[in-house]
Amino acid sequence: MGTIPDLPELTPLEGEELARLEAMTPGARWAFWKEHFSRCIRCLACRQVCPFCYCEQCMCDRNRPQAVETTPRPAGNTAWHIVRAMHLAGRCAGCAECERACPMDIPLNLLNRKMAKELKALYDFEAGLTPVEKGPLAEYKDNDDQSFIK
Ligand code: SF4
Ligand code: SF4
Ligand code: SF4
Repeated sequence: MGTIPDLPELTPLEGEELARLEAMTPGARWAFWKEHFSRCIRCLACRQVCPFCYCEQCMCDRNRPQAVETTPRPAGNTAWHIVRAMHLAGRCAGCAECERACPMDIPLNLLNRKMAKELKALYDFEAGLTPVEKGPLAEYKDNDDQSFIK
């Protein structure tokens, strides 16, 4: 059996960006992402290039029922980026291809790395280190205390 590589280290610039993001108030952080997401043209290059977006039918392509509005407008853009971030959390390998492929220079890997950091802090979980079928965000427990939404 081969060895599984760790997530690549953050570059100094990525580390600086992450620190800057974390130092923001929640309101400023929301404004930061809102501005970036508003520029998304929904070309879905980020999804097409991602080795972990391999679903036979992406939920963002479904129209009956439609989970995510397909036109590049603020509500649908925000929904798409939340879906993308949550679906890749715990699976993203940090290759940064999504960010490289994005024609609108949206800092997708910053969001990926922030999600990876949160998963490590909350669940002591790092993508690819253990051969588990499901990551922590793909499991549901009846007795979950739901403290994250209180
Ligand atoms: S950085 Fe993560 S989300 Fe982006 S393409 Fe690579 S594996 Fe996919
Ligand atoms: S965004 Fe989610 S549903 Fe769509 S291809 Fe990626 S993992 Fe699958
Ligand atoms: S590649 Fe960029 S512009 Fe295209 S859908 Fe992804 S985030 Fe939006």
